[in-house]
Amino acid sequence: MIIKRTPLKWHEKLYIPTLINGFKVTLSHFFKKKVTMQYPEEKWTVPEGYRGAPYLVKDSKERTKCVSCQLCEFVCPPKAISITPPGPEVNEERGNIEKEPAEFEINMLRCIFCGYCQEVCPEEAIFLQEDYSLTGESREEMIYDKTKLLELGGVHDSEVKKWDKKAADAAAQSTH
Ligand code: SF4
Ligand code: SF4
Repeated sequence: MIIKRTPLKWHEKLYIPTLINGFKVTLSHFFKKKVTMQYPEEKWTVPEGYRGAPYLVKDSKERTKCVSCQLCEFVCPPKAISITPPGPEVNEERGNIEKEPAEFEINMLRCIFCGYCQEVCPEEAIFLQEDYSLTGESREEMIYDKTKLLELGGVHDSEVKKWDKKAADAAAQSTH
């Protein structure tokens, strides 16, 4: 199909009406409420349950909940998690009831915030939290270690009181 070009009329060739129409659109926006966000000074308020960066959490007694089972490391699609389990020595203070990782790293440059680590974790030890904008000046800086992950994750007091139950059972047995 051939579409014929209609020749411009004399006033269209002046382009002035087109310019005026453009200015009208600009002016109409000029008086409207501003919608541009001054990021990063201004930031979005993310909805409850938003799944951003994954961080490790502690229980209400400041104990690391992770037990180095490495399930999250196994399921992580981009292999962003790297866990070093603890050695065979028993932690005197905590007993031998848990295996707090010797090191736990997440490469945030690889992480795709998929949430598999949170879903697979049997201890409710890792949660995707509200951070969506992570920055750093080097690649090394974007690999978050255990200390940083725990600091950012904070306390998550879940319904599961596994250690408390074990400690209570152990105390009850010792009295018999
Ligand atoms: S959110 Fe997904 S990509 Fe990121 S660490 Fe967890 S499993 Fe890996
Ligand atoms: S965060 Fe959860 S799934 Fe990952 S190693 Fe620790 S206990 Fe296992």
